[in-house]
Amino acid sequence: YEQAKALTFQDYGDPPAVLSLHGHSISPPHGDLMTLRFLASPINPADINQIQGVYPSKPTFTTSLGTAKPIAVAGNEGVAEVIALGSKPKEAGFKKGDWVIMNGPGFGTWRTHASARVEDVVRLDDAMREGISAVQAGTVSINPCTAYRMLRDFVHLKEGEFFIQNGANSGVGRAAIQLGKQWGLKSINVIRSRDDTTAEDRLKKELKDIGADVVITDAELQSQGVKDMAKEWTNGGRAPIRLALNCVNGKAATAMAKLLASEAHFVTYGAMSKQPLTIPASMLIFKDIHFHGFWVSKWAQRHPEDKKKTVADVLDMTRKGTFKDTPFDKIAWEWETKGEELISKVKDTLEGYREGKGVFVF
Ligand code: NDP
Repeated sequence: YEQAKALTFQDYGDPPAVLSLHGHSISPPHGDLMTLRFLASPINPADINQIQGVYPSKPTFTTSLGTAKPIAVAGNEGVAEVIALGSKPKEAGFKKGDWVIMNGPGFGTWRTHASARVEDVVRLDDAMREGISAVQAGTVSINPCTAYRMLRDFVHLKEGEFFIQNGANSGVGRAAIQLGKQWGLKSINVIRSRDDTTAEDRLKKELKDIGADVVITDAELQSQGVKDMAKEWTNGGRAPIRLALNCVNGKAATAMAKLLASEAHFVTYGAMSKQPLTIPASMLIFKDIHFHGFWVSKWAQRHPEDKKKTVADVLDMTRKGTFKDTPFDKIAWEWETKGEELISKVKDTLEGYREGKGVFVF
């Protein structure tokens, strides 16, 4: 029997109020089951929304972890090592020591160990795994894939053309900066202003160091002179801004849309400000801006093979050193670590202006 601990919840609600660390045991795997030991699982904004009950993909509530009332394990992304297998995973080519990532959302990754079926996971073959750290493998599926597809699938940008994005220092935003740079695209990046100007300047420099061409604050974006500045950046509009990636919504998103060239594409993928997106009718009628939404989970479900290729491509760039890690706040989850410590880290994720993304490292 494998002893396991998991961050679980019985009811939806505020994460610190509903999460608890639950201990249980996992029986030796048989048939189509395998036992996983988690290596790294990030805390993504969507995980928080899922615990709050406001995320469209729901986790599985089960009594199989030994509770009278059904509970769900939190977390959607992560990488785990196969430590024991039943007959079916063996037949499918899995072996002890393999690394697997989750096949889709809802599995529950904030846990030390889990019992999984073949269809729950995707095996990283030896070539994909080479030179890749657990944290890199455990965070490749969501943020980098989202940035990658949004830059590729809505409009064909030619080298030297611009995209603009807000939430530029998010995991997705940093991935977009780096991928765009490699593909010869130029980027205008919007971050939230910091009270501490030194911190703001440091962040601007950090983003430029990974390939951002222009970094401005949301206040600068909404200032009078922004149109003139945009003309300067884009060589008088000769290098048009044909794509916008929107993580935030609210006024700053509308201001971003105003900088787009006619017939450009505006893709919304996040809702960090919790404000609605307001679009002036003229933008639709006279400028013919195309507004889209993107959800990587739905895309991956529809295009499983492309998902694998995208992951492989990002891991390849990571291995070569051309795709750098986002800053992480690594949270050591040892066997003795107290539930309160882990839960307080989840709570920290709800605050903005963070230095790095939380990731549980086991
Ligand atoms: P990170 O945790 O890496 O970063 C969070 C970002 O949100 C930071 O840029 C932060 O800026 C900003 N932010 C936090 N609070 C606010 C606020 N109140 N108003 C405006 N901005 C805020 O995030 P991820 O990259 O993992 O995710 C970013 C967004 O993208 C989330 O909404 C997430 O759900 C969504 N997402 C969507 C996907 C999809 O398929 N549609 C896939 C992946 C992510 P600051 O430093 O200024 O606080």
